[in-house]
Amino acid sequence: MSQKVRVRFAPSPTGPLHIGGVRTALYNYLFARQHGGDLIFRIEDTDSQRLVPGAEDYIIEAFDWLGIKFDEGVSFGGEHGPYRQSERRDIYRKYVNQLLDNGRAYIAFDTPEELDAKRNEVENFQYDASTRLGMRNSLSLGGEETQRLLDAGTPYTVRFKIEPGEDVHVDDIIRGDVVINSSILDDKVLYKSADDLPTYHLANIVDDHLMEVTHVIRGEEWLPSAPLHVLLYRAFGWQDTMPRFAHLPLLLKPTGNGKLSKRDGDKFGFPVFPLLWNDPKSGTTSMGYREQGYLPQAVLNFLALLGWNPGDGKEILTLEEMVEKFDLTKCSKAGAKFDFVKGWWFNREYLLALPTAEVAPMVVDMLREQNIEATAEQAAAIWDMMKTKNIEYTDAQSQQTKKRNISFVSDLWPLCDFFFIAPQTFNREDKFVRKNWTENSAEEMRALRDILAALPAFDAETQRAAVDAWVAEKGCKPWNAWRVCLVGQGKGPDMHELAAFLGREETLRRMDYAIAQLG
Ligand code: GLU
Repeated sequence: MSQKVRVRFAPSPTGPLHIGGVRTALYNYLFARQHGGDLIFRIEDTDSQRLVPGAEDYIIEAFDWLGIKFDEGVSFGGEHGPYRQSERRDIYRKYVNQLLDNGRAYIAFDTPEELDAKRNEVENFQYDASTRLGMRNSLSLGGEETQRLLDAGTPYTVRFKIEPGEDVHVDDIIRGDVVINSSILDDKVLYKSADDLPTYHLANIVDDHLMEVTHVIRGEEWLPSAPLHVLLYRAFGWQDTMPRFAHLPLLLKPTGNGKLSKRDGDKFGFPVFPLLWNDPKSGTTSMGYREQGYLPQAVLNFLALLGWNPGDGKEILTLEEMVEKFDLTKCSKAGAKFDFVKGWWFNREYLLALPTAEVAPMVVDMLREQNIEATAEQAAAIWDMMKTKNIEYTDAQSQQTKKRNISFVSDLWPLCDFFFIAPQTFNREDKFVRKNWTENSAEEMRALRDILAALPAFDAETQRAAVDAWVAEKGCKPWNAWRVCLVGQGKGPDMHELAAFLGREETLRRMDYAIAQLG
């Protein structure tokens, strides 16, 4: 293909961007980068009834966080603007008139009430070749009456005149030749005089044409509209520059049956939106990947593999590798199960791969939320000691307590409170305390305390050498009792590393306190 690849992501700002939309944008991005093409960001806001304030800004912020960059579009500029459809009225008017003039569309005066009445009267009513002459439109009323109504300012719509009985072919890169008979399509409304705006279908086709879009990569939910879009391209005489279609596989519920919904996120406890969203209408707040502690690269990697894989078993892919390996023709037709546990895994892999110095500020922030001011050095030390530990969590569906690896910085908190908060009370009923604080413990801890107090330095290795020698000589096992002193429970890192973190003074203080309390 000699033509420059141009693709677009064209959300309607009717709410927060759904995670499936993020995947669509990502695939468009990968395809554009791979072909040295352009990625356009277009806002499809012609349905004024469904617009939600803040949604457009939210979408822009989400891509900014994710690191998906557009070449043109709303907030990015470019030569094919404006990129917000509500600002393109004059353009669409011209194309609506073109279809009216060449008889490919007609004017309809049926009111919403009349249409509802018809739908109640006739089961599965479809406005099409078999019914249109029974409705109030320019075809049934004739030119004079139509003009009279228009002159009187009667609200109207413009409908596409679909010829029945034709097999319409959609050439889909993922699905092959998709054939639908035009008889099942209705005469779609393309324009509403009431808002002086086109509907999605017309605006979408006109803009894809004018913006020189070469490939339409979008979710499977748009496949039913594609035959209509093919017919529109033909009606305009644009069949030669019609974009190629690729309808991406649906994202399915974690259980695999049915389309992924916001309710699944609530039920299983995972976000379905990239960022936190405060819904202006309902007042409800929905969690976001960013606020849950996902790294943007992990989210992109996770999403990239929902519906496509490089075929070599490799799962961790940089954005550059994705661009290189991505293959639209290898996307699956079948829906992709939304395996959110795999999402945890990706985040963990990306967190572990980060240099400690980059994780440390995140740990500092996480601790600050717990009202603890830590230095970057302390945060780094904690991360290095604790990053490979497990945490317990409650499985949202079964309500059972399960274990998993640390996958988020926030997972650390229940594992690291004792670094900053000394045990105040000791629970003798606690299994670990009961088992490990025996009648010799106080004496053993006093001996250990004296060894530690006399050390020339307090780093973990100096401690280890001295304590190991003492342990070998005495044949004692002081570790768990020492853990009771410093942590109060059976958790935490290597004792020497912990003591080194706390410092000599605090270590001895905690030991003295525990000895006094437990006796
Ligand atoms: N505005 C549509 C949406 O909200 C765009 C569909 C398309 O890409 O053609 O997803």
